[in-house]
Amino acid sequence: MSRSNSLPVREIRNFVDGAPVDGVHTFDKISPVDGSLIGRVHEADQVLVDVAVRAARRALDGPWGSTTVPERAQLLRRIADGIENRFDELVAAEVADTGKPVAMAKELDVARAAANFRAFADTVSATGLDSFLTELPGGRKALNYAVRKPLGVVAVIVPWNLPLLLLTWKLAPALACGNTVVVKPSEETPSSATLLAEILQEAGLPNGVCNVVHGFGPESAGGFLTEHPDVDGVTFTGESATGSAIMRAVAPRVRPVSFELGGKNAALVFADTDIERAVDGLARSVFTNTGQVCLCTERVYIQRPVFDEIAAGLAERARALRPGRPDDPATTTGPLISQAHREKVLSYFELARKEGAEVLAGGGIPDLGPDLAGGSWIEPTLWTGLAHTDRTMREEVFGPVAGLIPFDTEEEGVRLANDSPYGLASCVWTSDLDRGHRVAQQMRTGMAWVNTWFLRDLRSPFGGTGLSGIGREGGTHSLHFYSEPTNVCVQL
Ligand code: NAD
Repeated sequence: MSRSNSLPVREIRNFVDGAPVDGVHTFDKISPVDGSLIGRVHEADQVLVDVAVRAARRALDGPWGSTTVPERAQLLRRIADGIENRFDELVAAEVADTGKPVAMAKELDVARAAANFRAFADTVSATGLDSFLTELPGGRKALNYAVRKPLGVVAVIVPWNLPLLLLTWKLAPALACGNTVVVKPSEETPSSATLLAEILQEAGLPNGVCNVVHGFGPESAGGFLTEHPDVDGVTFTGESATGSAIMRAVAPRVRPVSFELGGKNAALVFADTDIERAVDGLARSVFTNTGQVCLCTERVYIQRPVFDEIAAGLAERARALRPGRPDDPATTTGPLISQAHREKVLSYFELARKEGAEVLAGGGIPDLGPDLAGGSWIEPTLWTGLAHTDRTMREEVFGPVAGLIPFDTEEEGVRLANDSPYGLASCVWTSDLDRGHRVAQQMRTGMAWVNTWFLRDLRSPFGGTGLSGIGREGGTHSLHFYSEPTNVCVQL
């Protein structure tokens, strides 16, 4: 393996009970930009995962368990400040692990990590629980009120595409509700989680409240964690098949899960749309983060009168993207996360060809010169000529790709968009507001955008239907998962 990268190889350790901990052995973290070795990750074995869960249980039973909401809200705000104080380090970690452009890591990933903590500090401070005064036969009364208690020791398992953003999206509400956690970041992106654990400690989080264990899925840290008998719940973001495996792992102990899973998201483009606005929005929704966002559009249904114009505009946008080094300001597009993931995406290029697709843009590996030849680069790719029922149009690729298919009537468009085992997100592009509302409400997805994409208020529900997940996170929706109410009924 090459060592063209001039940066020192980092040691990325577990963080358990307030201290960095070596693993029994290490695995390599390879740069997706140039294939160089950038880190040695300390893998947690079953014993270390058990130590982490025990530390989390002890911390839950200790003073942390009786902290008040204002105390925890204040801590969450200090954590947000801590993220901003170590902003550049977090950006560097995120960029090194993912290869994404520096500007994106700054504007999206790390900025949102701080925002997540502040948003949940606000939400938990503002949210009460129900109380009811009940009239009993004979005129007596009873007061019912519910007390929100932490769910307990929560396993937080996250993927590689937006590592810090997605981790903090779960960690902030978990801590806001007084839980203790064991985090398992993706094996591809271990760095920012370990850094974050240090930041939490600097902000005053007691030892054992947040632990980080590194490793893989089955027969490694992920599997050991979900099978651990003392874990009270699992919050997971990742592939639908992994969600299914985690469900099986927790089923014997009947533990709650919150799942944010895969998608095969559709956009519906109507002939009355503002073409430029739609092309602009579609390009963002297909190619952002090299297509590695669960919300990315991979199916574009276009009403026939504007099919050619939209397709040509989108192809032009695809060809204008500039893959390159993360620190080059001209770079718009990073690599895929790994060679293994590129193999998967390339297998869909091959499948699309066999299914009769015509390549409108991309379709291969870009030549970025010898320095970047070891990276997992891919061309932003668009296909036409696929049938709605083809596998390429039904399975999640998770790359910068989309299939473009024409439709005629609104009814047909809605039917095509909804005909998917997934149900995460959808977009409607139209200048007719009545149609926008009408169609968005018919989408069988957890989220439906009209004339935009990705935009959201952190208090609104986030999640999917079907293969795309179980439950909703965001604002009070997160608090419902990360807490257990106890109802107290007092006869007066
Ligand atoms: P993945 O499911 O392969 O891995 C996610 C995490 O689960 C990793 O930390 C991995 O080590 C761990 N894991 C794998 N198998 C496990 C097992 N059997 N038990 C316990 N842990 C296990 O997903 P990925 O490739 O890292 O991420 C890409 C996927 O994530 C895509 O499908 C994408 O759509 C999805 N995703 C969904 C959302 C959402 O909000 N719905 C957001 C981002 C990504």
